[in-house]
Amino acid sequence: TLVLGIESSCDETAVALLLSEKEGEAPRLLSSIISSQIPLHRLHGGVVPELASRNHSANLPALLRESLDKAGCTVADVDVFAATAGPGLVAALLVGNTTGKALALAAGKPFVAVNHLEGHLLSPFVAHPAGLVPHLGLLASGGHTLFVDVRCIGDYRLLGRSLDDAAGEAFDKVGKMLDLPYPGGPEIDKRAALGDPAAFDLPRPMLHEPHLNVSFSGLKTAVLYLLPKLCPSGNPHDLPEQMLNDLCASVQQAIIDVLIGKAMRAIRQTKHRTLAISGGVSCNAALRTRLADACEKNGVEFILPPNSLTTDNAAMIAFAALLKARAGQTSPLDTPVDPNLRLADAENRA
Ligand code: ATP
Ligand code: MG
Ligand code: FE
Repeated sequence: TLVLGIESSCDETAVALLLSEKEGEAPRLLSSIISSQIPLHRLHGGVVPELASRNHSANLPALLRESLDKAGCTVADVDVFAATAGPGLVAALLVGNTTGKALALAAGKPFVAVNHLEGHLLSPFVAHPAGLVPHLGLLASGGHTLFVDVRCIGDYRLLGRSLDDAAGEAFDKVGKMLDLPYPGGPEIDKRAALGDPAAFDLPRPMLHEPHLNVSFSGLKTAVLYLLPKLCPSGNPHDLPEQMLNDLCASVQQAIIDVLIGKAMRAIRQTKHRTLAISGGVSCNAALRTRLADACEKNGVEFILPPNSLTTDNAAMIAFAALLKARAGQTSPLDTPVDPNLRLADAENRA
C-alpha cells in the first residue's frame, strides 16, 4: 500500500509518501518533505493565517512533484490519499485537504481525512519495528498538551491536558517576552543548555496533585514579574547574556518537571509499560534525556519520534491514514475540515 500524505494545518506545508509492503513490517518512508514558513511568519512574531494559506497554495504543487520524484513514483502508483482535516487554521487546512481530495477523485482511489492530533500521537511509531503498541502517549505541541491512554488505532482515552496554555505555547510566549526569535521553543532549548536550571524558582502548578491536568499560564506571569527585578529597564535586551540563559534554563526546567512528573504519574495509574512522546516540544533535548532516564529507572520502554517527525510533517499523516485504511476507515469526499477537531473525534465508534 502506497500512501500519499499532505499536511497544511498551520505554518508547515508537507508531503510524504509511505510504502507498506506487509502488514507485520514497519512501513518505509520513501519521502517526507517539509517546507516551513517560519522565516516568513517570524517577521510578524507569530503565524498570520492569510499568509499561511496563500503560501500553502503556492508551495504545494512543487512539493508534490518533489516528493513523488524523490520516492520514484507517480500519482498513479498511490493507493491512498490523505490530508489533515483539523485542528488548525481553516483556510490553511482547506488547501491541503482539497488537494488530497482532488487527487483521490482523479485517481479513483480512497481518501482518508486525518486528525492532526492523531497524526502527532502515532508519529513515534512510524519507524518503530513493532508498529503501534498500547502505551501512554504524551503529546506536547504548540497548541496541545495531552496525556492519552492509547490502546490501539482509534481507541484513545484522554487522561489529562493543559487547562490553559499548551507546553509549546508556554515556550513561545516566554520566548516572545524575552524577545527571542519566533518560535521560542528551539531558542530556549539552545540557551537552556548554557544556563543554570536552578537559577530562578518558577512555579510548577498542579505537579503534586493526583490528577493528570497541567497549567502553564502562570509561568509567563512569573517571568513578567521577574524581568523588572532582574534589570531595572525590564527590557530583555538589557539582561546579561548569562542571566538570560539561566532564565531560559529555569523556564524550561519548570515546564519539563511538570511534563515528566505527570507522565510518570500517568504511567503508574494506567500501568502501561511503554511511554511515547510526540509534538514539537518532544524534540526538546533536556526533556528527551530526562524522560529517557526516568523511564529507564522505572523499567518503562521509551519511544520517541526522530527529530524530523516531532514538529508538523506529512509522514505522520500518511502513517495514521495507513492504519485507518487498513481498519477500513476511509473518508467520503464531502468530509469537512474542522478547525476545532478534538482527539475524541478521531475515535472509532463502530
Ligand atoms: P498543534 O499540533 O497542537 O496544532 P503545532 O502544530 O503548532 O500545534 P508542533 O508543530 O507540533 O505544534 O510544535 C511546534 C511547537 O513546538 C512550538 O510551540 C515550538 O516552540 C515547540 N518546539 C519546537 N522545538 C522545540 C524545542 N527544541 N524545545 C521546546 N519546544 C520546542
Ligand atoms: Mg508549526
Ligand atoms: Fe502540530
